[in-house]
Amino acid sequence: MEVFKEIFPLQSYLQEHRKSGKSIGLVPTMGALHKGHLSLINEAIAEADVVVCSVFVNPTQFNNAADLDKYPRTLEDDLKLLEAAGCSAVFCPSVDEMYATLPVVKFDFGNLEKVMEGSFRPGHFNGVGIVVSKLFNIVNPDFAYFGQKDLQQYVIIAQMVSDLSFSVKLRRVPVFREASGLAMSSRNRRLSDAAKEQATSLYKALQLCKEYLHNGTDLDKLKRDAWKVMEENGVQVEYLEIVEPATLEPIENISAHKSVAICIAAYIEGVRLIDNEIIKLDF
Ligand code: AMP
Repeated sequence: MEVFKEIFPLQSYLQEHRKSGKSIGLVPTMGALHKGHLSLINEAIAEADVVVCSVFVNPTQFNNAADLDKYPRTLEDDLKLLEAAGCSAVFCPSVDEMYATLPVVKFDFGNLEKVMEGSFRPGHFNGVGIVVSKLFNIVNPDFAYFGQKDLQQYVIIAQMVSDLSFSVKLRRVPVFREASGLAMSSRNRRLSDAAKEQATSLYKALQLCKEYLHNGTDLDKLKRDAWKVMEENGVQVEYLEIVEPATLEPIENISAHKSVAICIAAYIEGVRLIDNEIIKLDF
């Protein structure tokens, strides 16, 4: 596995592979890798000839300086995991390498960023748009892999790829969970064992929503009860939204929809977690 801290050597390496007709898959991450990330790497390996994983804690997508400081950084361990998984190359640039100058361009994703993460983390998706478009331009991948765990991020990147005609095919990879149902996240490392247990209530709330939707329970009761499941476990819920999975438009009445996404953000021991589930309604 090759490790690149600089853009030009990575590009020469990829150029060689491209010349010999190989396809390139990109898996962008912020490191502190876990099995959720590895599920993206595995999908990339199954589809692309050369797999590049980027490991970069992108400062421009953090709207909270303390959150950026506390974000786990475990590059040595990440490299071992990626090597064992069969990744071809890792791109782990410094902040200066990625941002020789601070970008002046700003993304405005319209309604897509007025809900959920966008409304609670101002500027977050501008930072995501900037770093992902930089990575797409640096790597020029045929395929790029993103987790459904960050559903809004996926939808926004899909819009950006369409609007700006990036020649990359996006793949959305399902949420990878612990046996307890807890969605894997780099931030879980900051949770005590007790908090990890409490955090399983996000998954329990999602399962309750699924059951209620299948039983035709009204959405107000669904929201109230799902919220309660989490609060009773000491979780501080930031939002629980029911949205259309492709447009993220809030849903008031499910009868006109074939599927809905339930999206949750919540704090446990001061750590912010998100989770979601897309639920098919054609039963
Ligand atoms: P991050 O390092 O948190 O920025 O995540 C990098 C990529 O991995 C993003 O596309 C995430 O959506 C994805 N990801 C993170 N956690 C999971 C998970 N539990 N299951 C699937 N994908 C994930």
